[in-house]
Order: sequence, then structure tokens, then C-alpha cells
Amino acid sequence: MYRTNSCGELRLAHLNQEVTLAGWVQKTRKFGGMIFVDLRDRYGITQIVFNQEINTQLCDQAIKLGREWVVQVKGKVTERSNKNPNLPTGDIEIIAAELIVLNPSDTPPFTIEEDTDGGDDLRMKYRYLDLRRTAVRSNLELRHQMAFAARSYLNERKFMEVETPVLVGSTPEGARDFIVPSRMNPGQFYALPQSPQLFKQLLMVSGFDRYFQIVKCYRDEDLRADRQPEFTQIDCEMSFVEQEDILNLFEGLTKYLFKTVKGIDIPDFPRLSYADAMKRYGSDKPDTRFGMPFVEIKDLTTGKGFGVFDSAEYAGAICAAGCASYTRKQLDELTDFVKRPQIGAKGLIYVRYDADGSLKSSVDKFYSADDLQKWTDRAKAKPGDLLLVLCGETEKTQKQLSELRLEMGARLGLRNKDQFNCLWITDFPLLEYDDELKRYFAKHHPFTSPKPEDISLLETSPERVRANAYDMVINGVEIGGGSIRIHNSELQKKMFSVLGFSDEQAQAQFGFLMNAFKYGAPPHGGIAFGLDRFVSVFAGLDSIRDCIAFPKNNSGRDVMFDAPSAVSQEQLDELHLKIVRS
Ligand code: ASP
Repeated sequence: MYRTNSCGELRLAHLNQEVTLAGWVQKTRKFGGMIFVDLRDRYGITQIVFNQEINTQLCDQAIKLGREWVVQVKGKVTERSNKNPNLPTGDIEIIAAELIVLNPSDTPPFTIEEDTDGGDDLRMKYRYLDLRRTAVRSNLELRHQMAFAARSYLNERKFMEVETPVLVGSTPEGARDFIVPSRMNPGQFYALPQSPQLFKQLLMVSGFDRYFQIVKCYRDEDLRADRQPEFTQIDCEMSFVEQEDILNLFEGLTKYLFKTVKGIDIPDFPRLSYADAMKRYGSDKPDTRFGMPFVEIKDLTTGKGFGVFDSAEYAGAICAAGCASYTRKQLDELTDFVKRPQIGAKGLIYVRYDADGSLKSSVDKFYSADDLQKWTDRAKAKPGDLLLVLCGETEKTQKQLSELRLEMGARLGLRNKDQFNCLWITDFPLLEYDDELKRYFAKHHPFTSPKPEDISLLETSPERVRANAYDMVINGVEIGGGSIRIHNSELQKKMFSVLGFSDEQAQAQFGFLMNAFKYGAPPHGGIAFGLDRFVSVFAGLDSIRDCIAFPKNNSGRDVMFDAPSAVSQEQLDELHLKIVRS
């Protein structure tokens, strides 16, 4: 038997027991005639003591141990005279009687401790060592707990986990596909699924009633902190349901995860329509841990001779409580912030509502104190507050103001990682128009059903059609999204035609789906949660990479495997591929 106990297990209750532990040497310290070794495994750290006076030979052996050597130690659990309150095992130590080196180790390229000295690249190259660090491993433990709890919640509600294929056909809608050449079908390609969307709908046609799958999805998109080329969804679909049923069941799942994994009771989720979310926060994933809603002031700003406002389609303000005392430098910083190319505002206008009730603004030339008072009144500002105003084209300005709101929230410490605000965004538009490509795209995906009362608008004003689609948002992160689907082949056909598909194209790409709908498709709908994002919100992480065991870097590379990489000419030949270099 390699071990009787783990390195995280022993307490005073085990005093005088003879135990065998196995693990990695985290640290060795020599202190007088004693050698102390911190022995680590997944469960914790236990102090081992080698005593010169008791066993010189053993001490000679112990002093040679290097960091990350794998050893087995036999000894007796003893009460420590010098207890360590920061360690769960800190009341005891093991007086070693036997030491076996199971495997020595090269000196690791960085320290395997809470705060490591390893940079990002080095840690990724040696990810298997990085994963030994408690901080990283605990994120994966959390991930496991969440996935396990989700499975159990869904299983209890009769959801059945079904695996769907990873080699699928490429579809034109959505993000860019990763494609895989087929050796047996020269010149033809599979795609990796962006989600099991079509399969889960077909499973509903098959009568499976309730499906889920914790499943990898692949999208060849530009990467960001919250995006990886492969990511995991908790993917779900249900038959004979309306939007309300889905919202309730999955609000339940989210509450269950918070309760079982974090011990937190989450109140019922507020619901906000897409239109209201854009109006109040300029975002369809608002961070509602703090208020600071938008206040529209266009009507109060026009006609006073200030061309910038007069020509603007929209003028909106946010009220930053207690910020009237901001210095010139702080205001300049905010102006620089909104003018950054990623945000793209032309400038920032402010009104300082000083503690003595006086009003000063960056547009004093055009607006009297009375004018400004109307702005601050509408924003319900109090003396001491600061009004920040942006104007321009409606959608663009709302987005810019949304970034500014988030920045102010962060500066004011209102985005506390231990606070969780969940909500539903509903009534998304069905379509969005792409100015460049001059056609409509499905906002969610082409299988999402329009609201029945809006179907008649499909021909006349498609942009006004609302969808039975919803997103779940936590702390400004889109955690999940789904919709009630179209289950009627005629409506599905119409949807493809609104999206600019000819009948032939629709038939070639999605004929099997429309055909399936002719064989008794039940009304159905579903949702998919991004597990990586869900875990990172639970863990308070800024990047989803930290909760993925082997993530890709920002250029989509696995630096450990050094993938992607070139393949041999033989492999290319077999796949009938020729590399053309320009
Ligand atoms: N398949 C969708 C997605 O990946 C989710 C859904 O509609 O259920 O976003």
C-alpha cells in the first residue's frame, strides 16, 4: 500500500498513529538537528520531521531531497509544539521513521506555490506543473463540482445525456468553422460542431423529451479573455415547453449550483427585455451589481447653440455618485478612456454638482446653471455627484456609455467578485442587419422562433420582429442563452428565405431539418450555458483560461504540445491536400 492517508487529512485526532504518506516535496528546511519537509498532494500539505538525534542515516537521506521529488514516508503522527494555524494539518507533524524516494525530479522551472515566480508562457509550457499549484487546481475542482451538480440536477429532472458527433457538416451561419479533411472522401471536409444545436433538435423530433450534454464546442473566432477556440457547454433541450418553463427550470439549476457549490442563496432573477437593457445600460449583458443607469437628456441639450449636441441623435448621461471632487487629471483619464480606439467616443462632457450645490461643466459656454440643473435633476444627482455625458449616434453612443459605466463601476469598487447578480434578458430581436453584407442575420441562430404576434412583420419590417430568445447574465457576463425553436417546416423555410437563402441553398444545407419537421416535430426549446464562463464567474476569475486544464494561448496555440503544427507530406498526400504558399 503506497499510503494510508492523504497529505491533507491528518489532525490531532490521529495522534500516535503510524501512517504512510506519499506525495511531492514542496520544501525542505534544516533547523538545528532537524530537517522539515513539506509533503504535498492534491489534498494538502503535511509537515514531516527528520530528527538527527533519532536517525542520522535517515537525515542524510532527507537532506538530499529536492523540490518536487516524489517520496513515500512512514512515521508517527505527533502534536506540533509550533502549530501552524494557516494549514489544516498545522496541529500535527509526522516524525519520520522511513523514507523511500519513488522518483526524483529535475528542478522545476518555477516555484509550485500559491504565488509562483513563473510567467504565463512558462506556466503554460509546463501546465502539468502549474496544475500542481493549489490556486489552479482548486479552479478545476470547482469546475468538477459544478459539472457534477449540474448533471445531478438535470438527471433528477429526467434529462438524458446523449453524445452527439464531433465530426459534422459545415454550416454557413454562425461563427467560422474549424474544418477537418476527410481522407476517404477526397476534397471533402467535416466541420467541428459550433454547438450540437441541430442534433439536439432532432433528438426532440425523436421523442427524447429532455436532453442534455456537457459538450465541447468549437468556433474559429478571434480570441479574448472570455473566449477559447474550444469551450464547453452545458447544452440542454426540452419538448412541450414554453419560454416560461425553460426560464424557471434553468433559473432553478443556477440557484442549485450557487447553493450546493458556494452555499449562497440567490433570489429570483429579475427579467429585463433586450430593449430596456439597451436603454438602461447600453448592453444586453449588463452588470447589475450596481445601478448607474443611463439617463437620456437629448431633449434638454438641444437648441442652446451647441452643435455637438444639436446634431447628435442621442445624448445620455450616467451619474457617478460622490465623484464631483474628481480632479482635472481624473477627468482627463476618463476622457482618454472613452477616446481609446476600442471605445471610439469623440469626447466626454461632464457636469460637476459640487457639494455646495453649484454646477460646473465642460460646456458652461452653452448651458446656464438652470439648464444644467435640469440634467442633474433628471439623473437624480445629488450635490457631490458627477454627471458624465456622451452623445452621438444612438447605438454607438449607448455602447460607449456602457463601457464608461463599467469603468466607473470598477473605479468605485462596485464590481465586487463575491457578489452575484443574476438576471434574464428576454425578447431579443430575431434578426440583425449587416450593413456591409446588406442582409439580415439571425441574432441567436436561424432555428429560433419569432414571437407569434410578430410573425406578420417578417415580410414587412423584419428588424422589428422579436424572438422567443433569452440570455442568462451574471455580473455582466453572458452565462447562457437559448430560445424556443421553430418546429414547423414552413416557418423554418420562411426564416431561411428572410436570411437570404434560396430554396435550393436552404434545402442543400438544412433540408434534413426541414424534412424532420414534417414527421411530427414537437414544440421544443432549450438553452446552453458556457461552463467555462460559469466557473470563472463562480471563482471570480478574469479569464476563462484559468478554469480550463489545458487551455490555448491568445493566438490559439497549445504551447505545451506546440499545436497547431505542420504535418508530414505523407499525411497531406493521404488527405489530398496541397499547401500553396503565396
Ligand atoms: N446552441 C445555442 C448556442 O450555442 C444555444 C441554444 O440555443 O440552445 O448558443
